[in-house]
Amino acid sequence: MQYSENILGTIGNTPLVKINKLTADLPCLVLAKYETFNPGNSVKDRMALKMIEDAEATGKLKPGGTIIEGTSGNTGMGLALAAIIKGYKCIFVISDKQSKEKIDVLKAMGAEVVVCPTEVEPDDPRSYYSVSKRMATEIPNSWYVNQYDNLSNTAAHYESTGPEIWKQTDGKITHFVVGVGTGGTISGVGKYLKEQNPNIKVWGVDTYGSVFKKYHETGIFDKNEIYPYITEGIGEDILPKNVDFDLIDGFTKVTDRDAAIYTRRLAREEGMFLGNSAGAAIKGVLQLKEHFKENDVVVVLFHDHGSRYVGKMFNDEWMKEKGFL
Ligand code: PMP
Repeated sequence: MQYSENILGTIGNTPLVKINKLTADLPCLVLAKYETFNPGNSVKDRMALKMIEDAEATGKLKPGGTIIEGTSGNTGMGLALAAIIKGYKCIFVISDKQSKEKIDVLKAMGAEVVVCPTEVEPDDPRSYYSVSKRMATEIPNSWYVNQYDNLSNTAAHYESTGPEIWKQTDGKITHFVVGVGTGGTISGVGKYLKEQNPNIKVWGVDTYGSVFKKYHETGIFDKNEIYPYITEGIGEDILPKNVDFDLIDGFTKVTDRDAAIYTRRLAREEGMFLGNSAGAAIKGVLQLKEHFKENDVVVVLFHDHGSRYVGKMFNDEWMKEKGFL
């Protein structure tokens, strides 16, 4: 018999899938690391489990404890899965620009969800960063995960996602392209891949309204780069400890409109029903065209599933309202 002891045993070992139509103008092979095959439908299951296991090992998370996190949904899903199996409570603090579907899904997994305003400074007491930190000091036997600065996030990708990509491409990967939010994915995968072959190029996909690209290019944290944007999951108005800028060869920024349109194109032209950051990531790959040659093997990582965006990028009315259609 072949079975997992529980749902957590199905995390990782996701497939690599060739992209065909959208990348027809590129000279190279483009492969998608397809993370929706994880049980919570996103790459975040990997780091959620690792952060919990490390917190248990160091005594920060104790039996019967409450897990508190500011999460846009996917990390919450991963934490909720692990919490159910391991017997913890979860409270998630989320910003009000996130899909209603994401909030409902977290509640379905038994978590308590607190919604905070998006359009306030990170250090404002109403922000989801501040609210989650405060709750962790007030609630007894609780642990604040902090996926931005918790380096178990990067470690999860160094230990699993990176080695899988290296093995699946038979060491032939030349470029890794991925959206950057907390930075855990790009830093963990990038570190592992560059240790195997320092010539591998690692590119981050950023949004307009985020600080990453300018900071990487100039070393300046420019507050004028920060403004509200629609793309979900990538870009930040802070510098998380999980972003290792030294490992990143460059960033490309994708507009909200392009991210939305390419999310739809992935579904209709490749049969890949994926989240909004996948649209940004594949458009980022196309923007980097001049960097790719024949025989290159480009791996782009797709973080999450389209079902969480049916009321947004996959809804014609919403697209028209935003001026994207
Ligand atoms: N896409 C989605 C949908 C996400 O939820 C996240 C996590 N914020 C990312 C991309 C970025 O991944 P990371 O946090 O590992 O940089």
